[in-house]
Formats: sequence, C-alpha cells, structure tokens
Amino acid sequence: MPAITAVRSTQTRSLSSTPTLRQGARGPAVSQLQSKLKAKGFNVSVDGDFGPKTAAAVRAFQQSRGLSVDGVVGPNTWAKLNAASAPPPSSGATPTLRQGARGAAVSNLQNRLRAHGYNVSVDGDFGPRTAAAVRSFQRAKGLGVDGVVGPNTWARLNGTPGAAPPPATGGARVNGYINGRAVPITVSSVGNGKFLRTDAANAFNRMRADAARAGINLSVVSGFRTMAEQQYLYNLYLQGRGNLAARPGYSNHQSGISADISVPGGYGSSTYRWLQNNARRYGFVNDVAGEPWHWTYRS
Ligand SMILES: [Zn+2]
Repeated sequence: MPAITAVRSTQTRSLSSTPTLRQGARGPAVSQLQSKLKAKGFNVSVDGDFGPKTAAAVRAFQQSRGLSVDGVVGPNTWAKLNAASAPPPSSGATPTLRQGARGAAVSNLQNRLRAHGYNVSVDGDFGPRTAAAVRSFQRAKGLGVDGVVGPNTWARLNGTPGAAPPPATGGARVNGYINGRAVPITVSSVGNGKFLRTDAANAFNRMRADAARAGINLSVVSGFRTMAEQQYLYNLYLQGRGNLAARPGYSNHQSGISADISVPGGYGSSTYRWLQNNARRYGFVNDVAGEPWHWTYRS
C-alpha cells in the first residue's frame, strides 16, 4: 500500500534522525547534531563522534536556552536545536555607524565595546557615551579617531580582546543580566575579591563560616561577572581555550547567584563532599553536570 508505506517511512525517518544522544554516541545523527550546534555558533567539529567537546557544547547550548543542563540531547534539546537560529552574539550586520544611529547594529556595536572593557549600555542608541567609547577604542587601537564605526573599526571590534577585562568590583548597584536582559542588582563581597548578589553573598558567607569550623576552606574563584568578563570567557570557550561559558547575558554568574568554588580534587575532594552534604541548607546547589565547582543560589 503506497500511502501506508509513505507514512511509515516518514515516521521512521523523523524518529531516527533525532534519537536521544549522549557522550559516546557515533554516526550520522551525531553529525547532524554537530552541524546544528555549529550553525548556532558553537565550536565543534562535524565528525560524527560525540566526545567531550561536543558534550560541552551541548551543555552550553542547553544553558543558553534555559533547558536542563545534562549534556544529553533528548526531544527538548532537539526542538531548540531545530528552532530558527538567533544570530550569534558577536556577529550580525556591520554597517557604518555614527552618533544618532539606532537599532540592532548599534546594540551589536555596544556589545562589542563592552567585550573590550568599555562601560556603555546596550540600548541600541548611539548617543554621546557610545561615541566617546568608540573614540577611546579607536585611539587605543591606533585607528583614526573620528567616532565613526566603519570597516576598520568593526574589524578591530570583532577581534578577540587581548587581555582580560578588569574584574567586577563590589559595593552598590551593578548591571546584572537575567535571560539576556539587564537587571540592576546589588552585590556584596564573598572574600577573595569576588562578589555575589547580596542575598546570595550573605548565605554564602554563613556557609563559608560553618565550613571553616569543619576545617573546609571555601574560596570563590569566580562570582559575579560583568558583561565584559562573560564575553571574554565566552570568546575563550568558543576558541576552545577556556571552560564552558554561557552565552553573554545568560550566565547565572551575571545575575550574581553562581559561585565557582575552588574544589581541588573535584568530585572526590573533601570540599566537594562537604558542599554536597551541606550546601543545600544555605540554598546552594551544584547545577552544571561535569562542573563540581559551580554552585548556584536557588533560595
Ligand atoms: Zn561557574
């Protein structure tokens, strides 16, 4: 029966093309997964082999889309992979821009300026402050200082920042990001020159004091991150030179609720075991598979 055959073969094709995949899988479905990750801006080879780098890209993708971060490609992850692609954060149109311009290309410009450490708002409005940042950037790069963003300035803006941006500083109100939107938050110190959103910092400091009494040293190596810091880490990650980092604007580090805690020895360490047994009482959970150091305040 031709009609039945046609239906059956369509179903078979659509089922077999998106099977649940995890690290260790091989074959055409893995190649398809890798092609889709690449199309979304993730740096993976299309070799049909689901190795650690593909797994890291899957986790980054899941984190960026608000999915549960388990590195396993099931129906929800496939659905998001097959959804129309948002432009990657550092690409997009690069028309010549000057003060008074508005729109997505200006937002892209402002994101790039932030990635290079300039403190401008990403509001799509090329005002005097953005113009001042452009002139300062041009001066720093030896370009003609005219405040107009043409091909040469774009080329330098889209290059990798040469040095890490200055770390976040604490105190009053800072620009946090939640799901890509800027949200003012207040951060407080958690020691070691790092900061968390004040409620998370208070909980962390209580936890740290109790851990110290148990002989466990909780040291934060990365807490709240500015947009420039996240962009920098994300660029390193995309180039295969850094740890998994979420798309800028989408990291819980940017909302000030995630802390990377030094756990020498990883999952087997006494620090990790103490956290596993106690952190939940202070509101912290270890919520990224494969990262024993990453703890998020969920209260
Ligand atoms: Zn982290």
